[in-house]
Amino acid sequence: MSLQMLKGIGASSGIAIARAYRLETQEPVIEKVSSRGSQSELQRFEAAVEQGKSQLKDLMEITAQRLGSEEARIFEAHLLVLSDPELLGSVKDKIYGDAVTAEFALKEVAQEIIAAFESLNTEYLRERAGDIRDVTRRVLTTMGGQLYYNHNPINEAVIIVAHDLTPSDTAQLDRVFVKGFTTETGGRTSHSAIMARSMEIPAVVGTAGAMNEIQQNDLLILDGGAGKLLVNPSPEVILQYEAKLLEEKRQQAEWSLLAERCTFSADGHQVELAGNIGCPDDVQGVLDHGGEGIGLFRTEFLYMGRSEVPSEEEQFQAYKTVLEKMKDKAVVVRTIDIGGDKELPSLKLPKEDNPFLGFRAIRLCLETPGQELFRTQLRALLRASIYGNLKIMFPMIATLDELREAKGVLQEEKQKLRSAGTEVSDSIAIGMMVEIPASAVLADLFAPEVDFFSIGTNDLIQYTMAADRMNGRVSYLYQPYNPAILRLIKMVIDAAHSHGKWVGMCGEMAGDRAAIPLLLGLGLDEFSMSASSILPARSSILQLSQAEMGVIAQQALGMSSAGQVAALVKRLLH
Ligand code: PEP
Ligand code: MG
Repeated sequence: MSLQMLKGIGASSGIAIARAYRLETQEPVIEKVSSRGSQSELQRFEAAVEQGKSQLKDLMEITAQRLGSEEARIFEAHLLVLSDPELLGSVKDKIYGDAVTAEFALKEVAQEIIAAFESLNTEYLRERAGDIRDVTRRVLTTMGGQLYYNHNPINEAVIIVAHDLTPSDTAQLDRVFVKGFTTETGGRTSHSAIMARSMEIPAVVGTAGAMNEIQQNDLLILDGGAGKLLVNPSPEVILQYEAKLLEEKRQQAEWSLLAERCTFSADGHQVELAGNIGCPDDVQGVLDHGGEGIGLFRTEFLYMGRSEVPSEEEQFQAYKTVLEKMKDKAVVVRTIDIGGDKELPSLKLPKEDNPFLGFRAIRLCLETPGQELFRTQLRALLRASIYGNLKIMFPMIATLDELREAKGVLQEEKQKLRSAGTEVSDSIAIGMMVEIPASAVLADLFAPEVDFFSIGTNDLIQYTMAADRMNGRVSYLYQPYNPAILRLIKMVIDAAHSHGKWVGMCGEMAGDRAAIPLLLGLGLDEFSMSASSILPARSSILQLSQAEMGVIAQQALGMSSAGQVAALVKRLLH
């Protein structure tokens, strides 16, 4: 056991101390080697199938409890695959007929079945290919003596160590047992990182080499704030971090006294602090942390990690739940923003070379046949609108035409519902994300056509600096304090205010303690962030003068580099 420190990017603050749980997600590599005897290969195969079945039964039970019986049915289908006489018979024939290993025989047979399913016309049957792939991987991994994520339910405190976690993997993490996670890939604004913050799971991403350096059950200390990971630390270091953990708890208790307060700067300027959520379960966290509203509901997470798109009814229930829980507080629901690093397998979209510049968000909504995906979501939202203070926001708007078309579709669906006798609120505010430089530059033309803007700095920064938010190699260019970004933000705020509209920010910059003074000074009206950042943000703003920050922001706008602005802010905070 060697003591080591691994550096990464702090994605979600907080300290976690627990054993490592490695998630192996790579495809097992199966070579064609001669078998050790067909009889023993068959026995190994049959034993792995039985093990797979019992894992699936456990998983079904747990999924039914945690997510519902609908989701649990996915694994029922997997169980059927493992009992399919044709598949089992073909593997057996290959093991004997070709004298190959059980792994090789299964891989070959599965590939044939997958190809056959993939060539079918019916979508449901094509989707079965994914089931076969998943089940095959489960059995292959079991034969290799390894753990297969998803079917070994985690039931003790762990820190997950993985090469990569997709947002749907992250959504499946059990908050009770998963004390933290680290991935070799990803950046601060990758969606797994954002979800970690809303789930309040400490996380460090971009920890190169973690899968090589960390063994199953190694003791880990993960420091999400500092972006580091200690492997097998000494007892003194553990004590030190246990003390830090206590201090973190004390600080949180102090902040929690601010939960019921509105947010005024020291010179009496009021702003709103809201929370970003990905599912109805996240609402409680926002309320507990003193959120004055929901500034961004990333609805695409309702669609992810499942085999079919959620129905209108299911979406309606989700939106209604959020609106009711928030009572009369504002809830900004963003229409589906799929694409980029958020894939939706059920849509079966072709792979793109530059997904962040591709067919995503509003583009996909307006261009899919019949706009059914979009219209279904809008109907669900409109029907839910009478249960609270709903605001609808469109993502990735680049042109006025897109905005007008999206608003037109919304209007059509509203009229259709009303003529069918369905009640719809008549005070739904309509806004758009400003996350593409083109819409920031033309903010004065967009402003008269919306009720509000919400600046999406996660994308605005990557598009302005031409630096992929997921690419660690260019992360030095991902500069929130670059005066170019600050000037764009100012343009948006000024344009909105001159048309009497309010401006929020729901990108990660809004919750960044060092950026808050500048944003306050630039006149931002609403700051929307991960629940856990709300109280520290309120504590900062209560002590800042908006007028003084205006002067500081003005200085920052005139600077020539992000470094100079960062130094200015640093002086201010100390
Ligand atoms: C953003 O781009 O800043 C944003 C809030 O949207 P997302 O992170 O979901 O792309
Ligand atoms: Mg975005």
